[in-house]
Amino acid sequence: MVHGRYFDAQKSAPVAATLQSGAGGRWHLHAGDVDMLLDPQQNRVSDRIGSIPRRVHLADGAEFETRDNDGMDALVGGAIRPHSRFVNALERQWGVAVAALAGVVVVSFLIVRYGLPALSGWAANHLPARTDRLIGAQTLQVLDRTVLRPTRLHPWRRTQLTDLFTHMTAPLQDGHQYRLEFRRSPVLGPNAFALPSGIIVITDELVQLATSDEELEAVLAHEIGHVRGRHSLRMLIQGAGVSVLAVVVLGDVGSVSALASAAPALVQAKHSRDFEREADGYARAWLQQAGIAGTRFDDILCRMTRTRGGKAGEVPVFLSSHPGTTERANCK
Ligand SMILES: [Zn+2]
Repeated sequence: MVHGRYFDAQKSAPVAATLQSGAGGRWHLHAGDVDMLLDPQQNRVSDRIGSIPRRVHLADGAEFETRDNDGMDALVGGAIRPHSRFVNALERQWGVAVAALAGVVVVSFLIVRYGLPALSGWAANHLPARTDRLIGAQTLQVLDRTVLRPTRLHPWRRTQLTDLFTHMTAPLQDGHQYRLEFRRSPVLGPNAFALPSGIIVITDELVQLATSDEELEAVLAHEIGHVRGRHSLRMLIQGAGVSVLAVVVLGDVGSVSALASAAPALVQAKHSRDFEREADGYARAWLQQAGIAGTRFDDILCRMTRTRGGKAGEVPVFLSSHPGTTERANCK
C-alpha cells in the first residue's frame, strides 16, 4: 500500500490517500469519501527523478501524489517503462553527471576556440558596410578620448604620407574605404593599428622613429593586411560572442563576468597571433611586389620593440597581443 495525498480536479486542499493493487490488476484509490478503481493503463505516472514526489495523473484531472518512490515502483511493477528506468539510473549516477558537465565544458571550449572565430569571420564579412563604418568611427572616438591626442606632424608631412598611403590602397579595389589618420600618443608610443571599416591610425612617434618612408610603407602594408582580413572587427565580435555564449551555457549572469573576462584573452592570444602572421604575410608580399627590401619591415619592427624598452623578442603592444618580434622579424 502506498500512502500519499489526493488532489481533486479543482486542486482544492489535498486529503490523505492510499493507493494499492486491487482486483483484476487495477489500482484501488482511497481518499476520504473518494473510493475508486483505476486502470493503470489509463493513468499516467510521473517518472522517478531522485526523491521528487511521484504523481499519478487521473483521467478526470485529479492527482495522487506520494513520496514513497519504492512503493510506487513496486505498484507499477513490471509495467515500469524502460525509458524512466534508464533516466532514473542515469540520474542516480554522479559519474555520469560529472562526465556530462565535463562534456559541456569541452564543447564550450571547442565552440569558443573554433566556432566563434569561424562565426566572427562570417559575421565580419556579412556585416553591412554602414555598420562597419559606424563601429570604426566609434572605436576611433573612444581612442581619441583615451589614448590618442591630436597630431603635431607638419601638414606638409601629413600630405606626403597620405599621398603615399593613397598610392598603396587605390589599386586594391577590395571594397574597403581606406583612410589614414594621424595621432600623437604618449601612451602607445611608436605605433600603428587598423580599425574596422579601413581606418588606419599612425602615431607621430612612429613617423619620427622611421628612418625612411619605405619603413613606414612596410608598417602600413601590415595594417592594410589587417583591414583586408577584417581582423579588428573579428576580435570585437569574438569578444562579444564569448559573453553571449557564456550566458547561454551557464545560464547565470553572475558567473559570466569571470568567464567572459578570461576566455577572450585565452582564445584571442592565439588568434591575434594568426592575424599577425596573416598581416605580416601580406606586408612582405606587398614589399616584394613594390621592389622594397623585406629588411625594411624587420628594421622598423625591431626598432619599435627596442623603443618600448622591451628586449628584442618581447611583445610590442599594438592594441592587440602580437607574437614576439623574434618570431616575426630578424633583429640584429
Ligand atoms: Zn598587427
